[in-house]
Amino acid sequence: MGRKQKLRQERKIKNKNPTSAVITTAPEATVEVASEGVPSEAAMTAIVVEVDSVFPKSDEYVQATVDTQIINGNEHYKLRPSEQYALIKQGATEHGCVHSMLLMDKLLRKGSTTTEGHYNPMYMHLAHPWLLEGAIRGNFRCIMTLIGEYYFDHAELNRNADVLIDYWGKIAHNANSRLPNLALNGLKDRLVRTCVICSKTDTNTSTLKQCIGCSFHCYCSETCQTTHWKDRKHRNECKQLRILNKYHKPYFNEIRDAVIRGDKEIPSLEKLRYKLGLTRPLEDYQELIDYNTHDGKLINPKDYVVAREDGTVWVGSFPSSPIGT
Ligand SMILES: [Zn+2]
Ligand SMILES: [Zn+2]
Repeated sequence: MGRKQKLRQERKIKNKNPTSAVITTAPEATVEVASEGVPSEAAMTAIVVEVDSVFPKSDEYVQATVDTQIINGNEHYKLRPSEQYALIKQGATEHGCVHSMLLMDKLLRKGSTTTEGHYNPMYMHLAHPWLLEGAIRGNFRCIMTLIGEYYFDHAELNRNADVLIDYWGKIAHNANSRLPNLALNGLKDRLVRTCVICSKTDTNTSTLKQCIGCSFHCYCSETCQTTHWKDRKHRNECKQLRILNKYHKPYFNEIRDAVIRGDKEIPSLEKLRYKLGLTRPLEDYQELIDYNTHDGKLINPKDYVVAREDGTVWVGSFPSSPIGT
């Protein structure tokens, strides 16, 4: 099926089910975050910056960011963008510097044609692996950016990243209770169980079945399950969740502590990077980088920021880790 055709079909599904859970989860969660007792965005940023300050800064990061000036409320660096980018990339790949990884996202998405202050979605798919690299190391700003600027957006557009929002939201909140709970909360915590596609609820005569991969979504029928799994691409994020649950969750503290200590070799991190596809060879996704195309067709970058059908990332970060070599 062509992309246009698929989009048309997705739109049809969306129009048919205006109350589908996929469409409503994003605004709901936003309300939750903005409700009483939750810090303002500025206060939140201050908390996250403070929590992340324990991560070491690579010399390259310091060098690339030390000379900044604020013009019209935006940070401007004295280095040329290409020089700064090269330094930041070195900091990220050679020293596993999470601050550099976060800045990689900003620099890549800023691109060259964006209007001031707005990130350029054209490069989202190239920036995504750097945020994921930062997130798996336990950097909260990377996690918050993934949730707020990648996965929520994804949900709005009727592409599903709900279970990843839930995963990362829980990871952040469990690791530090000062961070607000951005998790969407899975099936068990929901008051009313509804089919994610058609919004049917549990009744005496019919019982919804839950997705065995994530236990997050439930379905009234096989048809709805197939629509969600294939057309709405739930398969992709559900499989990534499995990878994260197996290779990230149990090692979260171990990896984060090792990164903060500046360990040169972190086997659990390398295994996870491999499982997520972050170490895939460049040839695999060269076309996405060079031309913004896939199999010769122009892509919508937002379709390439979650996962492929096997749960691995579309675009890798750096093929094999030079850390410790
Ligand atoms: Zn249904
Ligand atoms: Zn699932």
